[in-house]
Amino acid sequence: MIEPRGARRRRGGPLHTRYARTVRDKPQPPERTETVRDAIAAELRGQPLTARELSERVRIPEREVADHLDHLARSARGRGERLVVAPPRCLACGFAFDVRERFTRPGKCPSCRATRIAPPRFSLA
Ligand SMILES: [Zn+2]
Repeated sequence: MIEPRGARRRRGGPLHTRYARTVRDKPQPPERTETVRDAIAAELRGQPLTARELSERVRIPEREVADHLDHLARSARGRGERLVVAPPRCLACGFAFDVRERFTRPGKCPSCRATRIAPPRFSLA
């Protein structure tokens, strides 16, 4: 009874922090997809990020990031924003890929066939 506060903080601290970061004081639990997309948008307003970095920050599988970005690219226009994509580049020869096709990382360079490709980076501006 002397230190209930300390005990509670030790057990509930990380969970509470995680909850507060993702849910943000909404009265009803929002649909998971919307929450994730909002979180991605918030991250992209800070700095350009790769799909992997985004997946780590909002805790979703990397393969799901492209779909969210696809929706964000469209919804951004309605908010007066734009999804900016820095194209993937070949680390061997510097070839810049066309970013308009897909949001995923290409397998190899069509110019020199190297497979070390810097992934695309995304931001909202
Ligand atoms: Zn190349």
